[in-house]
Amino acid sequence: MNRREFLKKGGALLVGSVCAYNSPSLLATACELSKKGKKSNLKWGMVIDLNRCLQDCDECIKACRKENNITLHGDKKRDVHLIRKVRLKREYPVNSGEKSVLLLCNHCDNPPCAQACPVQATYKRDDGIVIVDHHRCIGCRYCMISCPYNARYFNYRENSKWSNKNHPKSAHGVPESCDFCNHLLRQGKKLACVASCERIGIKAITFGNLNDPDSEISRLIANNTVKAIREDLGTKPKVYYIGL
Ligand code: SF4
Ligand code: SF4
Repeated sequence: MNRREFLKKGGALLVGSVCAYNSPSLLATACELSKKGKKSNLKWGMVIDLNRCLQDCDECIKACRKENNITLHGDKKRDVHLIRKVRLKREYPVNSGEKSVLLLCNHCDNPPCAQACPVQATYKRDDGIVIVDHHRCIGCRYCMISCPYNARYFNYRENSKWSNKNHPKSAHGVPESCDFCNHLLRQGKKLACVASCERIGIKAITFGNLNDPDSEISRLIANNTVKAIREDLGTKPKVYYIGL
């Protein structure tokens, strides 16, 4: 059994144990599918409703940093941002205004980062999450160069803050990008950004299984005009926007 097969089997066992103790949660769908042997039917994705998202709010960004033990060192070029907000200016029609847009890893279905990685440290899992195996990564940063969304940040320095003792501090010398709070997902909990946005009553971020036609995310996509960023590149992003 090679390392990847071992990790896959370990993951399946873990899903089994989560199902036993945590089924009435976000992972309910995943657990049911897993029990039925249909784990590959999962495709996690996200919808961000820019009509709901508050322009100057950064609750989700702060919650993400706290959950994932991200320290800001005050060096704009080298700080890690798993989720960030940028102001996008619409060029046409002229003077049609600006929008602040949350950006994160799009968990592309056709991820150039994974294709570029020479040691398969970056890969797309069966459930669609694009992830970095920090132990396998050699720090070459080809994935960062290949990502057209600037979604990866190299962890130049060890994080000094350890705000969340339930989650390890990342080793420095590897690229970081959003992993859909994989550690929380495994426990059947909501992603930090999703939970924080709900906590303040806005609910601009929806996460769920794109392959389940009855999931909230699938209904949102079916009933709204949604766009992903630079779909023309063929990367097939799985983060969609309402109101972009
Ligand atoms: S957004 Fe960038 S880092 Fe994320 S999957 Fe796509 S190419 Fe890879
Ligand atoms: S930095 Fe790590 S994950 Fe990125 S391409 Fe190099 S080995 Fe792969």
